[in-house]
Amino acid sequence: MLTDLKTLDVRGKLSFDESMTSYNTWGVGGRAQCVFRPADVDDLQSFLKQYNAEQPVYWMGLGSNILIPDEGLSGVVVISHPGLQGISYKDDGSVYVEAGVACSKLARGSVKHDLQGLEFMAGIPGTVGGALAMNAGAFGGSTWEHVRSLKMITRSGELEQRQVDEFKVSYRTVETAADEWFVAAEFKLSRIEVNEEAVSIRELLAKRNHSQPIGEKNCGSVFKNPPGLFAAEMIQQCGLKGLKVGGAEISPKHANFIINTGSASATDITELMAKIISTVKKQYGVELQPEVRTLGDVK
Ligand SMILES: Cc1cc2nc3c(=O)[nH]c(=O)nc-3n(C[C@H](O)[C@H](O)[C@H](O)COP(=O)(O)OP(=O)(O)OC[C@H]3O[C@@H](n4cnc5c(N)ncnc54)[C@H](O)[C@@H]3O)c2cc1C
Repeated sequence: MLTDLKTLDVRGKLSFDESMTSYNTWGVGGRAQCVFRPADVDDLQSFLKQYNAEQPVYWMGLGSNILIPDEGLSGVVVISHPGLQGISYKDDGSVYVEAGVACSKLARGSVKHDLQGLEFMAGIPGTVGGALAMNAGAFGGSTWEHVRSLKMITRSGELEQRQVDEFKVSYRTVETAADEWFVAAEFKLSRIEVNEEAVSIRELLAKRNHSQPIGEKNCGSVFKNPPGLFAAEMIQQCGLKGLKVGGAEISPKHANFIINTGSASATDITELMAKIISTVKKQYGVELQPEVRTLGDVK
């Protein structure tokens, strides 16, 4: 029997027929039948146990790498932020952090605790859960290099402790068991020694500001870099910077960024992506693969 969402007994926030535009950094997409923001891990478990396993559930953090279809989503979108905020630093240099914590908070907190390795996360505008799902990375660092163990939640609300070797991890791709999501991770970091020069978060952020259209609505890099190549360079060489479809435009500042100039729809973005893929394919014989995830296609 289908669950009547309005009767669910949860402590977090359930909202209905909700516009998704404010939940993603592109600011596009239709409405979700229901959005659930759990208060904490117990609340999330309770929700999943009550919500019939046959009904769709989508998972999101801060929506900084997601395209939400204009047609919207039926079922429930679970948003881990601002719930799932647990974070604790241990004496052995490990950090336990829940999926809804912002990457920037983890990066800065780690440095404050004299731990290094996650500074690259300071400019990634997503959650730890999103970074785990994407194997987010920057400036030569990547999320999974530092992961020691994971806490997952199943569709029926069971918590499972997992080891790193149970996942297949590569560049911006992580294969998890079907119907399991990240609830928390333990990271193992190294100490910044007294005489060691720490990586400066301020400098990393300045580099980003210089090369990326910060302040405009975007989703970071739209395409993955093909092996040994740079998607941005290929798109630029094809003369595509500034190309528009509706309100979506290839950023004049960074060719692998698509910006919403104000009135873009998800369809505009999808069409612009298709133009980029076909033009680059014609010129280079290489098919660019989206880094951005379309909610509804991929969990
Ligand atoms: C200005 C800008 C700069 C960026 N720079 C970088 C960069 O340098 N490097 C980089 O790698 N990325 C970058 N990104 C992309 C993005 O910030 C990262 O991919 C980030 O890790 C996504 O986190 P999120 O919480 O926003 O995830 P979302 O966009 O909400 O979700 C992304 C994917 O993860 C899944 N997901 C989210 N949470 C969970 C969970 N708890 N369990 C299982 N699956 C989950 C979603 O279903 C979806 O498939 C940038 C984006 C922007 C807008």
